[in-house]
Amino acid sequence: MPKYRYKNIESVSERHKRRLLQKAKIVSNDDFEVEREGVDGSCCSGVTEQPRLSPEHIFNENENVGHTSWLQSDISDVQDEDIEILEPLSDSEDEQLPIDFDFSTFRNELSTWASDIPQSKVNSLLKILKSCPYLKELPSDCRTLLKTPRHTEVRKMGCGVYAHLGLRCLLLDILQNNYKIVDSISLQINVDGLPISKSSGSQLWPILIAIVELPEIIPFPVGVYHGKEKPESCDDFMGNFIDELCLTLDEGINVGSRNIKVSVHSFVCDAPARAFLLQIKSHTAYSSCPKCTVEGDYIKNRVSFLDSHCSLRTNESFREKRDDIHHVGTTPLLKIPNLDIVAAFPIDYMHLICLGVMRKVLLAFTKGSYSVRLSSQNLNLINLRLEHIVSFVSSDFVRKPRSLKELLRWKATEFRQFLLYTGPFVLNGSVCSTVFQHFLCLHTAVRILISKELISKYVDYAEELLLYFVENFPALYGEESVSHNVHNLIHITSNVKSLGPLDVFSAFKFENRLQTIKKVLRKPDKPLQQLCRRLTEQSSTQQAKKLLGKSDIEGAACSKSVKNAIPLGFTEPAYSYIKCNGFKIAAKPPNDCVIMDSGDIVVIRFIGTCNGSQVILGQKFETVENFFLNPCASTKVGIYKAGKLLNPAKWPISKVKGKALRVPMGLGSDVYFVAELLHSLHDN
Ligand SMILES: [Zn+2]
Repeated sequence: MPKYRYKNIESVSERHKRRLLQKAKIVSNDDFEVEREGVDGSCCSGVTEQPRLSPEHIFNENENVGHTSWLQSDISDVQDEDIEILEPLSDSEDEQLPIDFDFSTFRNELSTWASDIPQSKVNSLLKILKSCPYLKELPSDCRTLLKTPRHTEVRKMGCGVYAHLGLRCLLLDILQNNYKIVDSISLQINVDGLPISKSSGSQLWPILIAIVELPEIIPFPVGVYHGKEKPESCDDFMGNFIDELCLTLDEGINVGSRNIKVSVHSFVCDAPARAFLLQIKSHTAYSSCPKCTVEGDYIKNRVSFLDSHCSLRTNESFREKRDDIHHVGTTPLLKIPNLDIVAAFPIDYMHLICLGVMRKVLLAFTKGSYSVRLSSQNLNLINLRLEHIVSFVSSDFVRKPRSLKELLRWKATEFRQFLLYTGPFVLNGSVCSTVFQHFLCLHTAVRILISKELISKYVDYAEELLLYFVENFPALYGEESVSHNVHNLIHITSNVKSLGPLDVFSAFKFENRLQTIKKVLRKPDKPLQQLCRRLTEQSSTQQAKKLLGKSDIEGAACSKSVKNAIPLGFTEPAYSYIKCNGFKIAAKPPNDCVIMDSGDIVVIRFIGTCNGSQVILGQKFETVENFFLNPCASTKVGIYKAGKLLNPAKWPISKVKGKALRVPMGLGSDVYFVAELLHSLHDN
């Protein structure tokens, strides 16, 4: 059966053209014939009257040879007029791969794609692909493609099972393949329960690790427990991990000839997991504060922590159990060398502030018996403002604002959005000024503590604001409302001073990872074994990505051409959006507002090229004022009221410092509420 490979004569070299023409026994440039070869390779030379080949023939021929869709779609892209020369293709050539086809790359790309696709669908696709001679080496089964282990080693632990995936092997894998060279790394450890069934109580407890120096690496599990309840024994649950961790801290990790030092940065956990790991009283108990010796008071069926000036716990006082009613056992973490057990457990602001204090404050606005409870008129005003903001929320936020009617379903990122950005705009005038000022203390303090730049200037001020917020909390929200979360606000600044901005030790990245872990489970049966297999597959596909040089870890600038009219003074390429300092900025709302190095606030109208450099054309706000004045001028923490756009001007992209959210003060208003974005984009 003859087969033909087509080429556009314009696209081949003169030498190749001559060879093709010779092969095709061309009579003339305008009138040529093609010599066919039979299946057995015998030549049919000498036959003079052969039918001219038309594109229709080519399609028919290819249908007959059984080359499936990949070849046909290739052909369908070719216009009739493109097909000017037909090159005979022998059967022996048919078995050879095209010059630019790399089977290994193809397989790696396929396995990367298949890791997120149901097995049955991948198997169906493999069956089709294998019918192509080029791809017959592909496996028939998805599990072979993904290198899925056939057996998962688990051991019984109390009423559940535990699988230890290993710390050292995973660290070695990451450090060997990571693009960034590091001399030392510090580990963050997260432990949390992940319910996977509401009815049975089935839950996973992964031990997740993040590397502070490599924030692009998503947290990875080194051990996972599964049971109907949380692990019974902390010693059992953490035993394997602690043994391996101690060895790693002692010996480091050898990567080639380099020895990479490893240390513990922190344990990031919510209050129940922290109590479990440290073997201390739960957060509802009287002596539960992990940082100071405050004793709670029982008021209206709740434990309230009204004293903000108690003596602080220290590594020594903890190890010696000086406050014996604080402890319920002895934590195995004491085996870890050189660990300051109190400082190593910072207070995570995702649980403490976003899901804790911010939620508590908003719930008090909607229900409860205190003066802070709002009238339906004011609640409606808040909801209208939240609705107004929706279309101005940039791509840096995974969620749009929702009404307070849905408050019980708000996620941590929604509380963070309210606390850091939209809260001042929404609450201004819709709550009484005392409550508003009180909220602004929390808002300002957390904005300071999340920004490296603001911490360097105002960290002590943030501490004062939080103390003020906590000490005035009972007057507004009731004496019984100073919960474990509210009280612990007074301790969070000391964690920032020792460990860095709040995002460095927040649980957002771990929470995101837990959700992706939940998604890989395909059926309720044996979730631990399933999870371990999916993790091995993911590790294998990560390797594939590295081999391809297409690791998605590095956040490269991303751009896309636009066909808009290019303004005077600009040349191509122009961009519809571009990534700058980790932010996606664009020439249209809601991603068009940036803060320049100079402090100017600019609305982008065009992103293009000037003299070979990326340049933005934008309009600067002429008037930039404070949105609030107390507790401090809001412009100091990146909150502005901006108006009157000036004529367009150019700025090099390198002058863009950050991005901001801009919301019109009212419908159709040309004065805007502007909030500089501060939270870590790795945690979105
Ligand atoms: Zn305390």
